Parts: sequence; C-alpha cells; structure tokens
Amino acid sequence: MNTLSRSEAWQADRDHFVHPYTDFTTFHDTGSQVISHGDAMFVTDEQGQSYLDGIAGLWCVNLGHGRTEIAQAMADQAMRLGYYNTFGHSTNVPAANLARQLAERAPGGLNHVFFTTGGSTANDTAVRLAHFYFNRMGKPSKKKILSRNNGYHGSTYFASALTGIHGIHYGFDRISQDIVHHLSAANCYRRPDGMDEAQFCDFLIDEARHRIEQLGADNIAAFIAEPVMGAGGVLVAPAGYHRRMAEVCKDNDMLYIADEVVTGFGRLGHWFASENHFGHVPDILITAKGLSSGYCPIGAAIFSEKIYEGISKPQGPGGTLSHGFTYSGHPVACAAALKSIELYEAEDVFTNVRDTGPYMQDRLQGLLRHEVVGDVRGDHLMAGIELVADREAKRNFPPDLAAAEVVFRRAREHGVIVRPVGDTIILSPPLIISREQVDTLIDGLDQAIEDVSGQLL
Ligand code: PLP
Repeated sequence: MNTLSRSEAWQADRDHFVHPYTDFTTFHDTGSQVISHGDAMFVTDEQGQSYLDGIAGLWCVNLGHGRTEIAQAMADQAMRLGYYNTFGHSTNVPAANLARQLAERAPGGLNHVFFTTGGSTANDTAVRLAHFYFNRMGKPSKKKILSRNNGYHGSTYFASALTGIHGIHYGFDRISQDIVHHLSAANCYRRPDGMDEAQFCDFLIDEARHRIEQLGADNIAAFIAEPVMGAGGVLVAPAGYHRRMAEVCKDNDMLYIADEVVTGFGRLGHWFASENHFGHVPDILITAKGLSSGYCPIGAAIFSEKIYEGISKPQGPGGTLSHGFTYSGHPVACAAALKSIELYEAEDVFTNVRDTGPYMQDRLQGLLRHEVVGDVRGDHLMAGIELVADREAKRNFPPDLAAAEVVFRRAREHGVIVRPVGDTIILSPPLIISREQVDTLIDGLDQAIEDVSGQLL
C-alpha cells in the first residue's frame, strides 16, 4: 500500500519513524506535522494550511519547492539508468558531467570531486582522505583535526566528533577524543568584553597558533570550518579570519577543509563563499544540500590537485583508494544536481540573493526593538536572531522555557516557518525569495516575537 490517509500517516509516523534530532517526550504526545506538498516559497500541511518556508526545508531547497524541471530530469535519468556503481573504472554520464561542472565552478585549482550521499559523509571522506594523503606523503603522525566550538559538521560518528555544539553530544559517546580538538567559536556577539572585532580576530588566530604549538604541527592534519557557522547559531567571523586561518594552515602544513554544505550554491550570493566572499582557497571543499537543491541526497568533497596527486599515487600492485559509497555518483542524484546548476544560472538566482540578502539583513535589524532580541546577525540569506532574558548581561532564557521554540510555534500561526536552535531563531529561505516575501517572513516573525514577549519575560 503506497498511500495513507492523513490520520494513518500521522499514526504510522508516530509509531514507527524514529525522527532525527527529536525530543521524544513531546513527540509521543503530539506526533508530527505532516507536510504534504510544496510550491516555490510555500509548503502546505495535511490540514491544507500553507506556510512561507523561511528555512528552505533545512537550508537546502535553494530553488524552491515543486520544481518540475528537476523532477523531470530525475525521472528521465531513472528511466535511462536508475543506478549503476562507480567503483573502479565504471562511471555514468551525469556523474562525469557533474564532476566537471563542479571543477569548473569551485575556487582555485579545486578540480577533483569525490561524490557522497550528503554532508556528513562528505566530511568523513575529507578527513579519511586527508589522513590517507599524509600517510602517502610519509607523514603518518599528522592525524589530529582542529574544529571549532559551535561548528556543525554532521551526524555520522566522525562528523559528529567534528561537531562542536555542546548540547548535541549530551548522552552520546564521542570517538576520537584525542583526534578532534575544538578552538573557540568566532562568535562576535559573545566575544570577550572590551575587545573590538579586529582584536577578537587576533585573539582567535593567536589561540589557533598556540594550540598548534601545544599539539605539535607534525600531529595535525587539518582545520575544518564553515565559512559562516550555520546550525551553531549563524555566527559570522570577524573580517579577515578565514584568510588568516588559511595562512596558519599553510605555515603548519595543515589542510584547510571548508565545510560549505550550507554556504555553497548561492546562499551568500556565489557558487561558493570561500574564495569570492572570504578571499581564500581551501584545500578541500565540502558541499551538499543546495547542490541538488535538496531534491536528492548527494554531497561532494572537492580536492586540490596537490591532494589528488597524493591520494592517486600508485601504491604498488593492487593498492586502491579504498573508500566509497554504493551511491557515490548516483546517476539520478547527479541529474538533479545538473538540472539545479542549470537553473541557478538560467534564472540568475545568485543575483537575486545579492539583492534580497542585504535587504533581509537590513530589515531584520528592526527586530532589535524587542527587548527579548539580544542579537541579529547573518550574511545574505542566512540569519540568526538570538533571544535573551537580559540584554545587558546577554543572558539566555532557562532551557526549559524553550524560548525560540515558543517563537517558532507562534510564527507558524502567522503563516511563516522559522527554525529554533537553542535560543536562536534561524532563517535560511529559498534563494528565489522576493523582497515582498522577505517582508512577509520578517513581519510574521516580528509579530510572533511581539505576541510571546510578555510570556517569556
Ligand atoms: N555540514 C554542515 C555545515 C551542515 O549544516 C550539515 C547539515 O546541516 C552537515 C554538514 C551535514 O550534512 P548532512 O545532514 O547532509 O549529512
């Protein structure tokens, strides 16, 4: 039976579907909101209620919902060739084409692509192949990875170890305690008192250099960072931070892994943010989400020539690059990505981001009129609104109040979907958003904060 009635779907979900990132104390009572269809900026639930999707599904539906062009490309490919493996010397046309298209758009000399099933597996791939690379270079002691507090890099065992969001580890074990080391988050809002942003940047760079000295550069393989931290609260680093961290990496023979799962494919107005927005070329670039505009699971790790040369060096008879997934280079996922790239270009979507992004950031500043809003921050079409119980002291609300969740629920009643993460409300709308729709999104959120402020304070 392929279809279920509304109530059957709700029941089946509640009884059998183990949801990611879910609080089961409330889930058992309330179950899920069943989203049944989407059209451009809007999604509709099973009750027939429509919402402006202020989070693009989960930072990914960059081209908007219900794109028949992408669906058609996937259907055509599925009928031509639904699957074949890409291990060894086997390939398919969409995978080869997509690898070339990514190489043409990636910064600097990043021109070798390893396909994965999403962002976590791409980050795992980056670290595994970074270790392999240094082994091949005769530097097997280079194993440690520097990551950052508040960074989000995924949910596989190693990607979760890279992740520096404290609450996510609650109750879980961590592997590789001595392999992954976390530096301070580049959190300008919560920087030490008395420091301006330039001094804060110096502080972060000094901290990194000091930590490398302590751990020994000979023991460190790489530094991983999101250009703008996403799930950790949309934290925008001080000016020059990424370029300077890239220099730190070069000085210490460490690889810079840019996790562009969120920032890639236009969210900051360019294919990728590292070079065009932040002025540096990483050694490995990670992408997923917007790559297929969320229509099919796919991710990629894009490597420099230098790393490719290292990992593809003949290792003696029978030696292979023993890494890969059944669905690496899946033809249907690659067809979805190829069509997405075509649409990003044909519709000049990134020009729209460069117009509506700064407009959204400007309009969001108006939310500071609410006493419960401590900070409004972001870059182009990603934004974070941090709620505080005390603005002067920058003190958050008690966790059991779930302040951002309260705002999220109220905003939904005003017809807009935002995302609560800790005490921060995140916005990451589809990149096709118009100025009028930015107004609708922010007006709905503004009204929701107004409605619940009294209850929160
Ligand atoms: N890296 C970043 C920056 C992310 O935001 C995410 C997911 O939100 C991931 C990695 C993990 O990607 P996935 O959920 O596709 O495994």
